[in-house]
Amino acid sequence: MNIYNDEVFQMACDQFQVIADYINIDKNDRDRLMYPKRSIAVTLPIHMDDGTTQTFQGYRVQHHLTLGPTKGGTRFAPNLSMGETAALAMWMSWKCALANLPYGGAKGGIACDPTKLSRRELEGVSRRYMQEMIPFVGPHTDIMGPDMGTNEQIMAWFMDTYSVYQGYAVSEIVTGKPVSIGGTEGRRESTGRGVVYLIERAMDMLKMDAEKSTAIIQGFGNVGSVAALALERKVGVKVVGISDATVALYNPKGIDVRAAEQHVAKKGNLRAFTEADRVDPNELLTMKCDVLVPSAVDRVITEKNADKLQCRILAEGANGPTTPEADLLLNERWDEVFVIPDILCNAGGVIVSYFEWVQGLQSFLWTESEVTDKLFRILQHSFAQVIRRAKDHKVSHRTAAMAIGVERVMKAKHARGLFP
Ligand code: NAD
Repeated sequence: MNIYNDEVFQMACDQFQVIADYINIDKNDRDRLMYPKRSIAVTLPIHMDDGTTQTFQGYRVQHHLTLGPTKGGTRFAPNLSMGETAALAMWMSWKCALANLPYGGAKGGIACDPTKLSRRELEGVSRRYMQEMIPFVGPHTDIMGPDMGTNEQIMAWFMDTYSVYQGYAVSEIVTGKPVSIGGTEGRRESTGRGVVYLIERAMDMLKMDAEKSTAIIQGFGNVGSVAALALERKVGVKVVGISDATVALYNPKGIDVRAAEQHVAKKGNLRAFTEADRVDPNELLTMKCDVLVPSAVDRVITEKNADKLQCRILAEGANGPTTPEADLLLNERWDEVFVIPDILCNAGGVIVSYFEWVQGLQSFLWTESEVTDKLFRILQHSFAQVIRRAKDHKVSHRTAAMAIGVERVMKAKHARGLFP
């Protein structure tokens, strides 16, 4: 399967094989559970502001259609590949199944650096991407959402492009839209809020005192900044470290997260934020703290640093931050580092996306407190299931979480047959 040839895809496959061995999946079922149902690559030529025409590569991977339409974010990142997109789609499948959502996983995106495009160029490439995807997506086939490098505005351009083609407003084709065009209250904050809700559950379990705890957050975008602010303001945890793609910052007295957020809103990144000391971005992850929240890119916790982590809770806001080799080391340290695995930890985003989709399909409107309340109930249930399974079967939280997801997809595939 050369089109998926990529280290991240290999990592997702290795994780799957661990689960397949643990729950004894028949050899005949393994490949059809693992490989994507459908993958689409498109070429996107765009008129640039300087008069040249630049060509971008876009992808969409629909992992399985067994439980309903596929659902997943859209990533704009310079090195995005089909393999990475497929890995992210596979993780979405297990994530949706773990939360009991009627979706298969999907992921998509464009290999581009959105920070280097003008607003007009960004709109051009976003609209062109959706236009190329129209034959393959739909509210009952595949629903897009935001991910790294994309935001509410890009979702609005996607929705508009699809709607212009249909001739009427189809708000349910994307989630994470602005509230003014059918987005749901609380979607933007949902992933970070979910991360923090689960950190609180873990702290309760471990009898940790939030007021005496510290946190380090890698990545200061949608997930990281919301999580940092909620940890500081709602839970009372002192945020001592933050980072983004430009800089890593540490202040043992605590960083004013709101000030950092306002700085990023003005300047676009944390580079010139001076209220903390600059540290080596790799070292930030292994500095002493109670809660570590990787919420940027994949494969940052590896066999090189897993045994050096000094956190009590590792809350995976990002997708795929921990490699299988690092997992082996963390499994040995299970009583030192409490892992909240990605497919559980960052599921808040897709859960609230599901609410947004349901509201769009039924022309319903829920308030933000209704949305948040429903979100926390699903997360609480998933968290309890994962903890119970891990305890009963003496497996890691990641193995427990993935096994629950994979089993649900497998059961549905057995019930339906080979087609989906
Ligand atoms: P974003 O684009 O809003 O923010 C990403 C942040 O990470 C930025 O601050 C960027 O500067 C920083 N960053 C990039 N490379 C970095 C590096 N090497 N070191 C440190 N920081 C770096 O993206 P996001 O939506 O917050 O997504 C972050 C992660 O969370 C991704 O793994 C994504 O797949 C995952 N996730 C996002 C959502 C969502 O709803 N947005 C849902 C589930 C999971």
